[in-house]
Amino acid sequence: MGSNGTTRVVMLGTGTPRPDPNRSGPATAIVINETPYLIDFGPGVVRRATAAFEKGERALGFSGVNIKTAFLTHMHSDHTIGYPDLILTPWVMGRSEPLQVYGPKGIAAMTENILKAWQIDIDGRVNGLDQKNTTGYKVNVHEIAPGIIYRDCNATVTAFPARHEDMVDSFGFRFDAPDRVIVISGDTTPTQSLLDHSRGCDVLIHEAYSMDTYHRVSPSAQDYRRRHHTSSVELAEIANEVKPGLLVIYHRSNMGGTPTSADSEDVLLNEIQDRYKGRVVSAHDLDIL
Ligand SMILES: [Zn+2]
Ligand SMILES: [Zn+2]
Repeated sequence: MGSNGTTRVVMLGTGTPRPDPNRSGPATAIVINETPYLIDFGPGVVRRATAAFEKGERALGFSGVNIKTAFLTHMHSDHTIGYPDLILTPWVMGRSEPLQVYGPKGIAAMTENILKAWQIDIDGRVNGLDQKNTTGYKVNVHEIAPGIIYRDCNATVTAFPARHEDMVDSFGFRFDAPDRVIVISGDTTPTQSLLDHSRGCDVLIHEAYSMDTYHRVSPSAQDYRRRHHTSSVELAEIANEVKPGLLVIYHRSNMGGTPTSADSEDVLLNEIQDRYKGRVVSAHDLDIL
Protein backbone atom coordinates (compact mmCIF):
# COMPACT_ATOMS: atom_id res chain seq x y z
CA MET A 1 0.00 0.00 0.00
CA GLY A 2 1.46 3.27 -1.12
CA SER A 3 4.95 1.92 -1.67
CA ASN A 4 7.28 4.01 -3.77
CA GLY A 5 7.57 3.27 -7.44
CA THR A 6 4.37 1.34 -7.90
CA THR A 7 1.30 2.78 -9.55
CA ARG A 8 -1.43 3.39 -7.03
CA VAL A 9 -4.88 4.88 -6.73
CA VAL A 10 -5.59 7.44 -4.01
CA MET A 11 -9.32 7.87 -3.38
CA LEU A 12 -9.67 11.57 -2.53
CA GLY A 13 -13.45 11.73 -2.72
CA THR A 14 -15.91 8.86 -2.98
CA GLY A 15 -19.18 10.76 -2.55
CA THR A 16 -22.09 12.01 -4.62
CA PRO A 17 -23.98 15.34 -4.78
CA ARG A 18 -25.43 14.55 -1.33
CA PRO A 19 -23.08 16.28 1.13
CA ASP A 20 -21.79 13.50 3.36
CA PRO A 21 -19.12 14.90 5.72
CA ASN A 22 -17.24 11.59 5.49
CA ARG A 23 -17.18 11.52 1.71
CA SER A 24 -15.83 14.37 -0.35
CA GLY A 25 -17.08 14.91 -3.88
CA PRO A 26 -15.71 12.65 -6.60
CA ALA A 27 -11.93 13.01 -6.97
CA THR A 28 -9.39 10.26 -7.61
CA ALA A 29 -5.62 10.54 -7.92
CA ILE A 30 -3.57 7.99 -9.83
CA VAL A 31 0.11 8.15 -8.86
CA ILE A 32 2.49 6.77 -11.48
CA ASN A 33 6.27 6.96 -10.93
CA GLU A 34 5.48 9.40 -8.09
CA THR A 35 3.63 11.73 -10.49
CA PRO A 36 -0.02 12.38 -9.62
CA TYR A 37 -2.82 12.54 -12.17
CA LEU A 38 -6.19 13.75 -10.93
CA ILE A 39 -9.58 12.61 -12.18
CA ASP A 40 -12.46 14.92 -11.24
CA PHE A 41 -12.38 17.72 -8.70
CA GLY A 42 -15.44 17.51 -6.51
CA PRO A 43 -15.93 19.59 -3.36
CA GLY A 44 -13.17 19.08 -0.81
CA VAL A 45 -10.52 17.94 -3.28
CA VAL A 46 -7.67 20.12 -2.01
CA ARG A 47 -8.33 19.37 1.65
CA ARG A 48 -8.47 15.64 0.91
CA ALA A 49 -5.22 15.90 -1.09
CA THR A 50 -3.67 17.58 1.93
CA ALA A 51 -5.00 14.86 4.22
CA ALA A 52 -3.50 12.21 1.93
CA PHE A 53 -0.17 14.07 1.96
CA GLU A 54 -0.19 14.25 5.74
CA LYS A 55 -1.05 10.55 5.89
CA GLY A 56 2.14 9.83 3.93
CA GLU A 57 1.13 10.07 0.27
CA ARG A 58 3.91 12.57 -0.44
CA ALA A 59 3.58 12.42 -4.23
CA LEU A 60 0.60 14.80 -4.12
CA GLY A 61 2.57 17.51 -2.33
CA PHE A 62 1.22 19.65 0.47
CA SER A 63 -2.18 21.04 -0.61
CA GLY A 64 -1.84 19.14 -3.88
CA VAL A 65 0.91 21.42 -5.23
CA ASN A 66 2.28 18.53 -7.28
CA ILE A 67 -1.00 17.95 -9.08
CA LYS A 68 -0.37 19.49 -12.47
CA THR A 69 -2.50 17.33 -14.73
CA ALA A 70 -6.22 16.80 -14.23
CA PHE A 71 -8.96 15.05 -16.17
CA LEU A 72 -12.70 15.69 -15.91
CA THR A 73 -15.30 13.01 -16.65
CA HIS A 74 -18.24 15.40 -17.07
CA MET A 75 -19.53 18.83 -16.14
CA HIS A 76 -21.86 17.94 -13.24
CA SER A 77 -21.34 20.16 -10.21
CA ASP A 78 -20.50 17.29 -7.83
CA HIS A 79 -17.43 16.65 -10.01
CA THR A 80 -16.42 20.30 -10.56
CA ILE A 81 -17.19 22.35 -7.44
CA GLY A 82 -13.57 21.90 -6.32
CA TYR A 83 -12.23 23.41 -9.54
CA PRO A 84 -11.56 26.96 -8.29
CA ASP A 85 -9.96 25.38 -5.21
CA LEU A 86 -7.72 23.23 -7.41
CA ILE A 87 -6.73 26.22 -9.55
CA LEU A 88 -6.13 28.71 -6.76
CA THR A 89 -5.17 27.03 -3.48
CA PRO A 90 -2.11 25.04 -4.67
CA TRP A 91 -0.98 28.21 -6.47
CA VAL A 92 -1.28 30.24 -3.27
CA MET A 93 0.69 27.42 -1.59
CA GLY A 94 3.46 27.62 -4.18
CA ARG A 95 2.62 25.88 -7.44
CA SER A 96 4.19 27.87 -10.28
CA GLU A 97 3.30 25.71 -13.29
CA PRO A 98 -0.07 26.20 -14.98
CA LEU A 99 -2.52 23.33 -14.55
CA GLN A 100 -3.15 21.13 -17.56
CA VAL A 101 -6.83 20.20 -17.64
CA TYR A 102 -8.49 17.74 -20.02
CA GLY A 103 -12.28 17.66 -20.06
CA PRO A 104 -15.52 17.82 -22.02
CA LYS A 105 -16.88 20.72 -24.03
CA GLY A 106 -17.70 23.48 -21.57
CA ILE A 107 -14.57 23.13 -19.45
CA ALA A 108 -12.84 26.00 -21.33
CA ALA A 109 -15.72 28.40 -20.62
CA MET A 110 -15.93 27.25 -17.00
CA THR A 111 -12.20 27.87 -16.56
CA GLU A 112 -12.42 31.35 -18.07
CA ASN A 113 -15.41 32.21 -15.88
CA ILE A 114 -13.70 30.98 -12.71
CA LEU A 115 -10.63 33.10 -13.43
CA LYS A 116 -12.94 36.08 -14.02
CA ALA A 117 -14.89 35.39 -10.84
CA TRP A 118 -11.71 35.36 -8.74
CA GLN A 119 -10.01 38.19 -10.61
CA ILE A 120 -9.89 40.53 -7.61
CA ASP A 121 -8.18 37.82 -5.54
CA ILE A 122 -5.71 36.96 -8.32
CA ASP A 123 -4.85 40.61 -9.01
CA GLY A 124 -4.37 41.23 -5.32
CA ARG A 125 -2.05 38.28 -4.82
CA VAL A 126 0.04 39.00 -7.91
CA ASN A 127 0.33 42.77 -7.53
CA GLY A 128 -0.02 43.26 -3.79
CA LEU A 129 2.12 42.40 -0.80
CA ASP A 130 1.51 38.67 -1.31
CA GLN A 131 3.80 38.63 -4.38
CA LYS A 132 2.60 35.28 -5.69
CA ASN A 133 4.03 34.01 -8.96
CA THR A 134 2.23 35.08 -12.14
CA THR A 135 2.03 31.64 -13.74
CA GLY A 136 0.61 29.12 -11.28
CA TYR A 137 -3.02 30.23 -11.43
CA LYS A 138 -3.16 29.78 -15.20
CA VAL A 139 -4.80 26.78 -16.81
CA ASN A 140 -4.11 25.18 -20.17
CA VAL A 141 -7.46 23.68 -21.08
CA HIS A 142 -7.91 20.87 -23.56
CA GLU A 143 -11.46 19.97 -24.63
CA ILE A 144 -11.50 16.28 -25.48
CA ALA A 145 -13.21 13.76 -27.73
CA PRO A 146 -13.07 9.95 -27.37
CA GLY A 147 -9.67 8.40 -28.11
CA ILE A 148 -6.16 8.87 -26.75
CA ILE A 149 -6.20 12.28 -25.08
CA TYR A 150 -2.89 12.28 -23.23
CA ARG A 151 0.48 10.60 -23.32
CA ASP A 152 3.73 11.14 -21.42
CA CYS A 153 6.59 8.96 -20.18
CA ASN A 154 4.36 7.56 -17.39
CA ALA A 155 1.00 6.91 -18.95
CA THR A 156 -1.29 6.85 -21.93
CA VAL A 157 -4.79 8.07 -21.15
CA THR A 158 -7.76 7.08 -23.30
CA ALA A 159 -11.17 8.73 -23.00
CA PHE A 160 -14.20 6.65 -23.89
CA PRO A 161 -17.85 7.76 -24.00
CA ALA A 162 -20.00 7.27 -20.92
CA ARG A 163 -23.81 7.32 -21.06
CA HIS A 164 -25.17 9.79 -18.54
CA GLU A 165 -28.48 10.81 -20.17
CA ASP A 166 -28.69 14.58 -20.66
CA MET A 167 -24.98 15.04 -19.89
CA VAL A 168 -24.14 13.95 -23.41
CA ASP A 169 -20.46 14.82 -23.25
CA SER A 170 -19.42 12.38 -20.50
CA PHE A 171 -16.38 10.14 -20.37
CA GLY A 172 -14.68 7.29 -18.61
CA PHE A 173 -10.89 7.07 -18.65
CA ARG A 174 -8.39 4.27 -19.08
CA PHE A 175 -4.85 4.78 -17.77
CA ASP A 176 -2.17 2.54 -19.22
CA ALA A 177 0.76 2.80 -16.79
CA PRO A 178 3.94 0.67 -17.00
CA ASP A 179 2.81 -1.76 -14.30
CA ARG A 180 -0.99 -1.41 -14.20
CA VAL A 181 -4.04 -0.66 -16.28
CA ILE A 182 -6.59 1.40 -14.35
CA VAL A 183 -10.07 2.25 -15.62
CA ILE A 184 -12.48 4.72 -14.05
CA SER A 185 -16.11 4.65 -15.12
CA GLY A 186 -17.18 8.24 -14.54
CA ASP A 187 -20.95 8.52 -14.07
CA THR A 188 -22.61 6.13 -16.46
CA THR A 189 -25.17 3.50 -17.25
CA PRO A 190 -23.68 0.25 -18.58
CA THR A 191 -22.04 0.69 -21.99
CA GLN A 192 -20.23 -1.44 -24.50
CA SER A 193 -17.40 1.10 -24.54
CA LEU A 194 -16.68 0.49 -20.85
CA LEU A 195 -16.54 -3.27 -21.47
CA ASP A 196 -14.21 -2.77 -24.43
CA HIS A 197 -11.86 -0.50 -22.49
CA SER A 198 -11.75 -2.38 -19.19
CA ARG A 199 -11.48 -6.04 -20.22
CA GLY A 200 -8.71 -7.62 -18.14
CA CYS A 201 -7.69 -4.34 -16.45
CA ASP A 202 -5.92 -4.41 -13.09
CA VAL A 203 -8.24 -1.96 -11.35
CA LEU A 204 -11.77 -0.95 -12.32
CA ILE A 205 -13.11 1.99 -10.33
CA HIS A 206 -16.84 2.04 -10.91
CA GLU A 207 -19.91 3.89 -9.64
CA ALA A 208 -22.97 1.94 -8.45
CA TYR A 209 -26.28 2.06 -6.61
CA SER A 210 -27.85 -0.77 -4.64
CA MET A 211 -31.16 -2.38 -5.60
CA ASP A 212 -32.08 -2.06 -1.93
CA THR A 213 -32.10 1.73 -2.15
CA TYR A 214 -33.48 1.64 -5.69
CA HIS A 215 -36.62 -0.09 -4.47
CA ARG A 216 -37.05 2.51 -1.75
CA VAL A 217 -36.84 5.68 -3.86
CA SER A 218 -39.69 7.24 -5.85
CA PRO A 219 -40.52 6.05 -9.37
CA SER A 220 -39.07 9.26 -10.81
CA ALA A 221 -35.85 8.77 -8.84
CA GLN A 222 -35.72 5.18 -10.09
CA ASP A 223 -36.10 6.45 -13.64
CA TYR A 224 -33.33 8.98 -13.08
CA ARG A 225 -31.01 6.26 -11.81
CA ARG A 226 -31.72 3.95 -14.72
CA ARG A 227 -30.86 6.74 -17.16
CA HIS A 228 -27.73 7.96 -15.39
CA HIS A 229 -26.15 5.27 -13.25
CA THR A 230 -25.31 1.57 -12.85
CA SER A 231 -26.99 -0.84 -10.45
CA SER A 232 -25.22 -3.44 -8.32
CA VAL A 233 -26.68 -6.19 -10.52
CA GLU A 234 -25.45 -4.50 -13.68
CA LEU A 235 -22.03 -3.87 -12.17
CA ALA A 236 -21.71 -7.55 -11.18
CA GLU A 237 -22.48 -8.48 -14.80
CA ILE A 238 -19.86 -6.02 -16.02
CA ALA A 239 -17.27 -7.39 -13.58
CA ASN A 240 -18.02 -10.98 -14.59
CA GLU A 241 -17.41 -10.05 -18.19
CA VAL A 242 -14.26 -7.88 -17.88
CA LYS A 243 -12.71 -9.68 -14.86
CA PRO A 244 -10.76 -6.79 -13.32
CA GLY A 245 -7.95 -7.65 -10.90
CA LEU A 246 -9.71 -5.43 -8.38
CA LEU A 247 -13.16 -3.84 -8.53
CA VAL A 248 -13.43 -0.59 -6.57
CA ILE A 249 -16.86 0.90 -5.94
CA TYR A 250 -17.16 4.67 -5.55
CA HIS A 251 -19.89 7.30 -6.07
CA ARG A 252 -22.53 5.14 -4.38
CA SER A 253 -25.98 6.62 -4.89
CA ASN A 254 -27.66 7.30 -1.60
CA MET A 255 -31.33 7.42 -0.79
CA GLY A 256 -33.01 10.49 -2.18
CA GLY A 257 -34.74 12.83 0.24
CA THR A 258 -33.90 10.92 3.43
CA PRO A 259 -30.77 12.51 4.83
CA THR A 260 -30.78 10.34 7.93
CA SER A 261 -31.02 6.99 6.16
CA ALA A 262 -28.48 4.39 7.23
CA ASP A 263 -25.33 3.83 5.21
CA SER A 264 -26.11 1.12 2.69
CA GLU A 265 -22.51 0.24 1.90
CA ASP A 266 -22.67 -3.34 3.19
CA VAL A 267 -25.96 -3.95 1.41
CA LEU A 268 -24.48 -2.75 -1.87
CA LEU A 269 -21.34 -4.83 -1.41
CA ASN A 270 -23.40 -7.94 -0.59
CA GLU A 271 -25.57 -7.47 -3.68
CA ILE A 272 -22.43 -7.46 -5.82
CA GLN A 273 -20.65 -10.29 -4.00
CA ASP A 274 -23.72 -12.52 -4.35
CA ARG A 275 -23.22 -12.32 -8.10
CA TYR A 276 -19.49 -11.70 -8.56
CA LYS A 277 -16.74 -13.73 -6.91
CA GLY A 278 -13.69 -11.59 -7.77
CA ARG A 279 -11.97 -9.07 -5.49
CA VAL A 280 -14.18 -6.08 -4.73
CA VAL A 281 -13.93 -3.21 -2.26
CA SER A 282 -16.18 -0.29 -1.46
CA ALA A 283 -13.80 2.65 -1.32
CA HIS A 284 -13.60 5.29 1.39
CA ASP A 285 -11.94 8.67 1.18
CA LEU A 286 -8.14 8.41 1.55
CA ASP A 287 -8.01 4.70 0.71
CA ILE A 288 -4.88 3.86 -1.28
CA LEU A 289 -5.31 0.93 -3.65
ZN1 LIG B 1 -21.72 12.41 -10.02
ZN1 LIG C 1 -23.04 13.05 -13.03
